[in-house]
Amino acid sequence: MKKMNFPEVDDIKVLDDLSKNKSLSRTSYPLLLRDKNKVENSYRDYNQKKGNAFNVSFVRIDLDLKSALLKNYNSPPKELSFISILRDSSPEVCPMCGAFYPQELDHIMPKEDYPAWTVFSRNLVPACSCNKKRGRTLKGNNNERILHPYFDNFLKDRLLTISFSHDANKKLIDPKIDYVDENHNEILSIKFHAESIVLKNGIEKWLRGQINSLNVFPANVIKNIPRKKKIKIRKLIKLLEELLESYDDQTGSKNNWNSILIHGLLHAPSSLHRFIVKQHNNSIN
Ligand SMILES: [Zn+2]
Repeated sequence: MKKMNFPEVDDIKVLDDLSKNKSLSRTSYPLLLRDKNKVENSYRDYNQKKGNAFNVSFVRIDLDLKSALLKNYNSPPKELSFISILRDSSPEVCPMCGAFYPQELDHIMPKEDYPAWTVFSRNLVPACSCNKKRGRTLKGNNNERILHPYFDNFLKDRLLTISFSHDANKKLIDPKIDYVDENHNEILSIKFHAESIVLKNGIEKWLRGQINSLNVFPANVIKNIPRKKKIKIRKLIKLLEELLESYDDQTGSKNNWNSILIHGLLHAPSSLHRFIVKQHNNSIN
């Protein structure tokens, strides 16, 4: 999850150029020219309503134009050359789920259901394979919705962390996604987004793997622990704080998977910090 700047695309001009491109007679010409005003209005509405799934107006376009826009999206003509640039615009972190290597684009308003926004840059967000796992999920039953990386400014804040349970030996087990601020104004949507995308994309399985490595040798996960030197609790806390800041900065997001893990470790009970220090110091003897 990441707050993204708006794409540097003049969508109204793109739409105008695309609608006049006669070489697209097998796809959008002249269908798009005929419906250009309607599509343009839908872009303006989307901006006005700040991409909020509950407020944007549904705009009906006919099946021929829907299919033409899909074809243009899949084989972009020169007017849509920004699509491949957008796909690579967040190389460090997936803006939708916080995982790694986003190589696809997610239509926030799914193109199957909202075809007018098939090639609208502000509806296209780089995403990893969570794109397919999300499918066409957009809204829940209680006014909760998928979050929008271009419009939802609170995505800049730290929203997700983890809580742990532990076994009798104080080994960390069973990390669970948790929410930094249960009283957040948008908590229902934050939870809906996390459940529909982040959890579906397997973050808890990844976390369990990380915790297993940490139980064996903490420096494999808390990568700035000196591998051959003993440490104390106070040093561990400092290292966790530094590592958290480094993951936040590197990805431009406080809700990338590494930061979620390290934030959870930083705020874990002190008995778990003692366990980590003991485990580290014992392993280097
Ligand atoms: Zn993702």
